[in-house]
Amino acid sequence: MRCPYCQVEDTQVKDSRPSEGGGVVRRRRSCGGCQARFTTFERVHIPELNVLKKDGRKVSFDREKLARSIRIALRKRPIAPEDVERMISELLNRIEGLGKSAIESARIGQMAMDMLQQIDSVAYVRFASVYKDFREPGDFRDFVKRLRPPETR
Ligand SMILES: [Zn+2]
Repeated sequence: MRCPYCQVEDTQVKDSRPSEGGGVVRRRRSCGGCQARFTTFERVHIPELNVLKKDGRKVSFDREKLARSIRIALRKRPIAPEDVERMISELLNRIEGLGKSAIESARIGQMAMDMLQQIDSVAYVRFASVYKDFREPGDFRDFVKRLRPPETR
């Protein structure tokens, strides 16, 4: 595993423990180059999972693409990178936990939006704007109007 800070390949696992009911293994790693510590999550990979697109095409599920779009939606939001990665793992587990060999892309998008809606409304709107392909400010306005009022903290 390459160090995300200095890109050195020499990193060591310091600690491994199951999390999220055993579906994921969380590993603490440390870098031999810059001494940074970081966490990785290991999860089950179901290779034959396909996505059914709106136009009827079937493509293999691109986990990294979904993870990337969630990271982008949460960029510069007040959520720790480790928490972002944990949420992505949970989402992927939930999708793979459906136990299907093919899932509609709309359902995956909805699951991602449901998760983001609970975490951060800005990230939710960002993700939805890409996913729902907003084209003009009015699309945002209509969408945001339907948001629940923010919970008081
Ligand atoms: Zn490093």
